[in-house]
Amino acid sequence: MDKEQWCLAVPKREAEQTRRRLLEEGLLDRGLKPRPEGDAILFPVAREIAGAAWCEFEAVPERAELPRHELVGGIAIMQDDDPEAARMLLSSRPSLQTVLFPAGPVEGEYRTRRFTVLAGTPITCTRVTEYGLYFDVDLALAYFSARLSTERQRVLETMEEGERVLDMFAGVGPFAISLARRAALVVAADLNPAAVHLLVHNIALNRAKNVIPMLADAGNLTGIGFPPFDRIVMNLPLAAPQFLPAAAALCRDGGTIHLYALEEQEGEFLPLIRAVTSGEVTERQVRTYSPGKWHAVYDIVVEKEGC
Ligand code: SAM
Repeated sequence: MDKEQWCLAVPKREAEQTRRRLLEEGLLDRGLKPRPEGDAILFPVAREIAGAAWCEFEAVPERAELPRHELVGGIAIMQDDDPEAARMLLSSRPSLQTVLFPAGPVEGEYRTRRFTVLAGTPITCTRVTEYGLYFDVDLALAYFSARLSTERQRVLETMEEGERVLDMFAGVGPFAISLARRAALVVAADLNPAAVHLLVHNIALNRAKNVIPMLADAGNLTGIGFPPFDRIVMNLPLAAPQFLPAAAALCRDGGTIHLYALEEQEGEFLPLIRAVTSGEVTERQVRTYSPGKWHAVYDIVVEKEGC
């Protein structure tokens, strides 16, 4: 061991959440390596905080610049097919189990992709901790993106207590279960059976008693006879715009639709939106997709009069 430092010990299942919090609060000493001890992970922290004790750590080698990657629970998805860099990444983070490389694009109706294993245990299943919620995911069977966590919180913060919410393309449930914290009821639909299987599991995992999972094509939801929803989430960027008339029919007058769309031009989907509502529309860029294309979210107030 190289150096003594203040140290916070947390159970392994809370390690990733704690690491993010310490990073956000500027408390993690990034010059030292977190390490496992029994069932806990020891994090080096830059100053004495509640629960901290004095421990020894190894220094992070100065040259060790980590390869670019996206973290999903205990899995890192690397952008380059580089097994050596993957092994370095794996050894730099005690909470990592596996490093994957996408063997193809996100594709098909279910929006899934194939992966090859670059390092670690050959798995595509992991548990993601997001703002105190848990999501079990299988990256090979159902879509999940940790990059949308801030977006889910943004939508949650715009909600009133007791809303009735519809998630038309729910996947394994990250929007539905996050929004259930303020909603009276969330109906969560997806047509991928594997996604709905995980959705049911995640509802139970988070003890959410107000989420109704459905294996259904969003195009059929208008035929069920739901009372109008206060809020509708449409996170299927390639195809959601084509379901907008159905969403508008399912939304109450004055309710809100969050339409996620892949676009190349600001305001690209405004004409389509204007065909279903004359209400206020706010557009924001969520993240870039490829050069000249980005994921946008349109927050749409549904006003049925005058359109
Ligand atoms: N909302 C989830 C999230 O944020 O992780 C999943 C989003 S993913 C981009 C889109 C989801 O829509 C996939 O799980 C896919 O199976 C589902 N899907 C695609 N077409 C659908 C349809 N016509 N009806 C219902 N679900 C659909």
